[in-house]
Amino acid sequence: MKKEFVVIGLGRFGGSIVKELIELGANVMAIDISAERVDDYATIATQAIVADTTDEAALKSLGIRNFEHVVVAIGESIQASILTTLMLKEIGVKKITVKAQNDYHEKVLRKIGADQVVHPERDMGIRIANNMVSNNILDYLELSDEHSIAEIKANEKLAGSTLVDLDIRAKYGVNIVAIKRGKHILVSPQAIEKIEYEDILIVIGSDDDIHKFEKKALH
Ligand code: ATP
Repeated sequence: MKKEFVVIGLGRFGGSIVKELIELGANVMAIDISAERVDDYATIATQAIVADTTDEAALKSLGIRNFEHVVVAIGESIQASILTTLMLKEIGVKKITVKAQNDYHEKVLRKIGADQVVHPERDMGIRIANNMVSNNILDYLELSDEHSIAEIKANEKLAGSTLVDLDIRAKYGVNIVAIKRGKHILVSPQAIEKIEYEDILIVIGSDDDIHKFEKKALH
């Protein structure tokens, strides 16, 4: 059976989620207060509906309770985003992801029970800054204020060594959870695995340790 999702707010962020979910083979109910925006998704989403999701009766009439995951991608109006999330919670939606505008918005969203809060602009800024500071850091995903997962390109200095040789966990405190090699991904690589030039190492650890590893092991 196809997975069923709801996306509320069809700006650039919500819109791209709708398109990608459809590409991935899911059913998507796309909702926006603007008829014009909804029109843009009429032929893309499984269902595209004009509704003000801060209107309790309107929200309840949509049968949202039956969907497994709802994304609230209302950007500018923090009030509409909070009210919508609150009512989705009351209706009993199992999983709610909400785009936050700032830290205060996030705090409130977490208090009222949002399962996942995302800051796409902030997170993309962090990723790009990390890539700007080090060409070897290809991607950066924050897990918490202090911990992240990074994709680090192996250079000639690392190539040819095994994970045991490098003793990365003991020396730098980071763990290599996977290695991307061309189209292949080695998950939980063995200690005897030899790193190849231009492998992409997926490492997890504290931000400080990741940066220490990137600075010392690759330069
Ligand atoms: P992006 O950066 O993703 O484009 P944004 O921060 O500019 O997003 P907005 O355009 O403010 O986001 O909001 C996203 C969408 O949410 C808009 O299309 C807007 O019409 C819709 N929206 C706002 N309020 C409501 C509401 N009460 N019910 C349903 N949709 C709403």
